[in-house]
Amino acid sequence: MKEVANAQAFTTCVLDEIDGQRNRPIDPLFVILESKYTIPLRQASEGPVAYNALGDEDRIFTNLYGRHDWRLKGAMSRGDWYKIREMITKGPEWILSELKKSELGDRGKAKFPVSRKLENMKDKQLPTYLVVNGAEGEPGTCKDRELMRHEPHKIIEGALLLSRVINANAAILYIRCRYYNEACTMQMAINEAYAAGLLGRQVAGTCFNFDMFIQRGGGRYIVGEETALINCLQGKEGLPHAKPPYPGDEGLFNRPTLVFNAGTVASIATILRRGGDWYSGLGEEGEIRGSRLFCISGHVKRPCIIEELNSVPLRYLINRHAGGVIGGWDNLLAVIPGGASTSLVPGRLCNNLSLDAESLKEVHSAQGTGAVIVIKKGTNILKAMLPIMKFFKKESCLQCPQCRNASRWYEEYLTRFIEGKGHPDDIDFMWEIMKYSVGKTICYYTTANAAAMEASQCLNIMRTYLLQLKDFYMWGEVNLATN
Ligand code: SF4
Repeated sequence: MKEVANAQAFTTCVLDEIDGQRNRPIDPLFVILESKYTIPLRQASEGPVAYNALGDEDRIFTNLYGRHDWRLKGAMSRGDWYKIREMITKGPEWILSELKKSELGDRGKAKFPVSRKLENMKDKQLPTYLVVNGAEGEPGTCKDRELMRHEPHKIIEGALLLSRVINANAAILYIRCRYYNEACTMQMAINEAYAAGLLGRQVAGTCFNFDMFIQRGGGRYIVGEETALINCLQGKEGLPHAKPPYPGDEGLFNRPTLVFNAGTVASIATILRRGGDWYSGLGEEGEIRGSRLFCISGHVKRPCIIEELNSVPLRYLINRHAGGVIGGWDNLLAVIPGGASTSLVPGRLCNNLSLDAESLKEVHSAQGTGAVIVIKKGTNILKAMLPIMKFFKKESCLQCPQCRNASRWYEEYLTRFIEGKGHPDDIDFMWEIMKYSVGKTICYYTTANAAAMEASQCLNIMRTYLLQLKDFYMWGEVNLATN
């Protein structure tokens, strides 16, 4: 076969040639090819990089698997609520400076530094509110659920300390409706904290008053967006609105409001107790420091949730904690590194890939929620992406035309390819949709953006299919004229 150095030019060649058959649908063999001849993502031969794992003594979440008592007594025996009075009396400035030293970022999707968010809230007129976002709805993500089940006191303690910085006397924990048992556990933990004088008037013998409430939501994915969440808490429809006004200026009941992910809130107290320098010292020099939770699922032997360093190598994470990829590391086709709204990373780029934000940016993906979804070879990647497309289409709030149309079209065109009815023109049309929709909608992490990112990977894969088809055509295994 004639060698073409530039892959893009080659793809264009292929498209041009197939273009000659413009009125013919793409061959159903696409569907057969995927299982018989997987996409040629060859693994590089390098071995795993050296890595110093997070030690047990440095884990923030010590009851992640519920092996110990989650109640107040059990939580206290693991160090929760220790020195709470001292931390409250040291005041907002001390808390802020420790969080600044820790360089902690929000563990939701936006990754904004916690200290910067808190600083923006300084000098805001009272009353202010804290909202803890437990609306976890991203496919593949379930870390907040485990925290609510097994570490509820960490969430309450963190909410109390964050509220001390912004002088908020009330916090609302929003929990998605499907987390019924988790909401019950959280409520019991809150009741225990009230009974022990750790919530309510004069918390822990200080002069700070603080109440915490739970609100269960309706379960829409889009309510995880902070403006939609605030609307929902006010009894309105859970729809995002354009910013400004930002929640920090005009949030819950038109008062300045701070919104944090439940995972972020749960880590605050331990970081303050051990010091910001301790947290920012986790990991190696020159790496992104600190730890976070990863939810590993898909084609691995033991799906799990684990706390590891921010910069953990993907290969170590999967092999050490999830029992490895089914069929071995060389059987890895692709990974979705941060939940359904982050882009696929092909297996050949995963050998030495670290999961920190910088490294993932280099492979055009993102940290997202830390939900690592593993896909093994032999999987029909287009079929695997279809439920994600359907999810985003279903969860679009339909306010923006770009999102409304794009999410529908992505699903429609992907289905066509899966059924073998796609056409090369469709790929170009999808690129156009992407250009037209990305970054032009209300949400910060829009359904359209998310779907577009997934689609961009799918489009690459569709192009690869075209290349394969060309390969087989050249070798006489596929005859476009007769199939
Ligand atoms: S981008 Fe989509 S989900 Fe976000 S506000 Fe617009 S229509 Fe709603």
